Amino acid sequence: MKITDVKTHVVKMPTTMPWVLVSVETDEGVTGWGECTDYIANPQLVRGIEAVKPFVIGVDASHIEEIWQRIFHLYSDLNGRGFVSHLISAIDIALWDIKGKVLDRPIYDLLGGPVRASVPLYTHVSDTSQGSTFDEHLAGMMEDARRTKEMGFEAIKTDPFPSRREYGKFRGAFMVERLDPAAIHEAVRWMEGLREAVGDDYELMVDAHGRFDVASAIEACRALEHINLVWLEEPIHVENHNALKHVRENVNVPLCIGERHFTRWDYWQIINDRLVDYIMPDIAWCGGISEIRRIGAMAEVGYIRISPHDALGPIAIAASFQVCMTMPNLYREECVHHWFSSFEKLIEPMFDVRDGHIHPNGRPGLGIEPIPEALEEYRVDVDAPEAQRTDWYGSFGDEEED
Ligand SMILES: [Mg+2]
Repeated sequence: MKITDVKTHVVKMPTTMPWVLVSVETDEGVTGWGECTDYIANPQLVRGIEAVKPFVIGVDASHIEEIWQRIFHLYSDLNGRGFVSHLISAIDIALWDIKGKVLDRPIYDLLGGPVRASVPLYTHVSDTSQGSTFDEHLAGMMEDARRTKEMGFEAIKTDPFPSRREYGKFRGAFMVERLDPAAIHEAVRWMEGLREAVGDDYELMVDAHGRFDVASAIEACRALEHINLVWLEEPIHVENHNALKHVRENVNVPLCIGERHFTRWDYWQIINDRLVDYIMPDIAWCGGISEIRRIGAMAEVGYIRISPHDALGPIAIAASFQVCMTMPNLYREECVHHWFSSFEKLIEPMFDVRDGHIHPNGRPGLGIEPIPEALEEYRVDVDAPEAQRTDWYGSFGDEEED
């Protein structure tokens, strides 16, 4: 079975970010789906997939590892990671989808079979208040947290640091930031409110989005220690492991890192030196199903849990779910449940989400398929302004009323 074409599909739902979906077609009529959505680099990724196409067309679609290695080493001058591992991820996921469809088995069956009956999720809360003061925004977030808990979700992650949150406005991690005492005080109030909303035994995480200097990160971890977090995520910029080690040695909060790390080579030292307690590779960025499974096994060696980063589109969620069914050291799979009503319009069948878990549907491959008519309805040109919007970021978009 030869690969005959690789296509990109940029899809923008009314209240979501634009998603880059990738289809791999074969000469036997079986099509697999992958994804490599990025927050701001989607046009470059679409062109990157076009550039990779000549190196995979004509190759046997069952040769997943050969194709992984082929693309990785083709771009070794770019280090094979980040941009390149995004391209690999989309194609790798699609090839596993094809293999599952050909063998008529879910992908988790091809990876050794399930080690759990369903995959536990964690999600995010939005400030739904439309307010203008800190107290109004805090109340809006607490209300959404109570609602989210009532829906059955067992864990929530939030970014409580003011300059990032700024009530839904994305400012981005552009420089090494310092947290002043007022910012730390506000973050503590935010997390105390969230803790009050969900109760003492509920699982909470904080995401610092890799923004702070070492002293600020240590100060924030110490100030939030009483919240009893599952983890504090990306406390500092991610390039310097020695700096992370310094944070690690000076705080009593479990740490998590990984959405800005790609392939097993980025993870080796982190895991070997046990610099964190959790890792969170993104399956659409780190090298796909093949690679996240290898990274998860490496983490198992260090008694570190894996919790895939997953704030992208439905193909990425489906792919992570398949691997999460098989990984013994899983914590939870991330999701943005506010986007589920959009997923329902784009894929068939919708994920079976109950009690904060995704349950397997037993279907072959990824277990879901984009709806062709919906793909056309929501397709956007990657160079069009709506495909490059970033104003959704930070708020996770509110549900459409319909
Ligand atoms: Mg994060």
